[in-house]
Amino acid sequence: VNAACVAAAKPLISGAAIRLEGQLSVFDPRRADSPCYHCLYGHGSDAELTCSEAGVVGPLVGLVGSLQALEALKLLAGFGEPLVGRLL
Ligand SMILES: [Zn+2]
Repeated sequence: VNAACVAAAKPLISGAAIRLEGQLSVFDPRRADSPCYHCLYGHGSDAELTCSEAGVVGPLVGLVGSLQALEALKLLAGFGEPLVGRLL
C-alpha cells in the first residue's frame, strides 16, 4: 500500500493495534517533510507478532479506526494539523 501511495502521490493514513497498544500516523508524499511508511518501518519481519497470536482488545481497534477517519477528514477538509511526520 505504501509503494502505491508514494507512486500516486496520495497520503497513507496508517493505523495498527495489538494487545493494548495502538499506533497512528499519516505519510504524505506531497509534503517534503513527510517520511514514507518504509522510512519508519522498513520491510518488516516474519518474526512480528500477529493479533491471532498476541491478541488485541476489541475497542482499541475501533479507537484506532476512528482516529484514522479523523485524519482523513483533516486531509480532505484542510483543517487542523494532520499527523504527518509524527507517530501517535
Ligand atoms: Zn521513505
